[in-house]
Amino acid sequence: MKKIALHWRILIGMGLGVVFALIMTNFDFGKEFIQDWIKPFGKMFIKSLKLIAIPLILAALIKGVSDLKDISKLSKMGGRTIITYLITTVIAVSLGLIVVNTIAPGKFIDDNTRQELITNNQDAANSKIIAANAREDLGPLQALEDIVPDNIFKASSDNGNMLQVIFFAVFFALALILLPEEKGKPVKDFFDSLNEVILKMVDLIMLAAPYGVFALLAALIAESPSLALFKALSMYALSVVTGLVLMVGVYMLIVSVFTKKNPFWFISKISPAQLLAFSTSSSAATLPVTMERVTEHIGVDEEVTSFVLPIGATINMDGTSLYQAVAAVFIAQAFGMELDFATQVGIIATATLASIGSAAVPGAGMVMLVGVLGYAGIPEAGLALIFAVDRPLDMCRTVINVTGDAAVSMVVGKSVGKLGDPEVKNWDDHYNKEEN
Ligand code: ASP
Repeated sequence: MKKIALHWRILIGMGLGVVFALIMTNFDFGKEFIQDWIKPFGKMFIKSLKLIAIPLILAALIKGVSDLKDISKLSKMGGRTIITYLITTVIAVSLGLIVVNTIAPGKFIDDNTRQELITNNQDAANSKIIAANAREDLGPLQALEDIVPDNIFKASSDNGNMLQVIFFAVFFALALILLPEEKGKPVKDFFDSLNEVILKMVDLIMLAAPYGVFALLAALIAESPSLALFKALSMYALSVVTGLVLMVGVYMLIVSVFTKKNPFWFISKISPAQLLAFSTSSSAATLPVTMERVTEHIGVDEEVTSFVLPIGATINMDGTSLYQAVAAVFIAQAFGMELDFATQVGIIATATLASIGSAAVPGAGMVMLVGVLGYAGIPEAGLALIFAVDRPLDMCRTVINVTGDAAVSMVVGKSVGKLGDPEVKNWDDHYNKEEN
């Protein structure tokens, strides 16, 4: 009998997780049971994905860049990647601004609700503000300086240092290209083979995906705050989600115009990565799966994906930048502030930079939002307003972050003649075989 496709199995896992938690929370012991006996499995799943993120970046980038055999190809691809990422981010922020100005969700918050939200979430919001202020004390070129690691082992020991690992891998691969072929061959063979091993690990982890997301969603529902809070913020949440959905439309348009591929086919192929992004709220944790989907199912050559996707997971966060624009204007509206056109244009620039600086982990976008608020003169205390719904919105924006990376890798792949048909190897069948 033909097994159900992977994305359906993940969706079923998510659905069952929600239903299970809703039933269990009716019992006194339900929440504790989920925290003690279900949540750890979700954590183990996310940890195993994160575990391979750094080795994957190292192996895939060194293999991908050294396969190029030519430095001019790398600079061409690098330039296109960065420019396309910047363009999609600016489109995302602008879309966010249009939506939030049209819906004006801040006008739906009365003074009492505002005060209540701020009082209830003050402490949680303060921790984000402290984290953001620690960054602000640094000089203007600090972000650039931070890209260069002083110790590759130290850099590789922290998932927050992905850009440093990328820097080392590209540098290493460049040196490998410059060596005479026979001298570099043992090292190249080693990294090619390491890459294969790591892809196999992704493959094995994905067997556990439906169970992992079951545990993640069950824990999330069991720990979520009351529904009343969600209601007060529903117009704000609706604005963010509307912007994000429109952004999916933008990607579909980009894919269809620039790669001539069917946009619905694109969405169906990338959907397992989207579902994982939703369940884990982390582009970094999703990266191994995004790479596998784009390479094996969409048919972008590994030379391109191994370069474009790790960089995208670290610097291209269209969902995050869109959310930051909506959140900033929403908070301003809730405090009765009018933001003039020039300030809103400034938000495009600051939210673009803030999203580039956001780490690919849960909740990072909110820390960087503090900088956008600071620029526009919006009270930082407003963070407490949006705190209650941040996690579900984080899940949604991470889906867009991952989708954007995949769409851009197709465009870059097409532009350098490296977008073909996916290999005949069908991974869904492959998973099924392993399970039988
Ligand atoms: N969770 C997001 C990501 O990993 C970042 C954020 O917006 O908080 O892509």
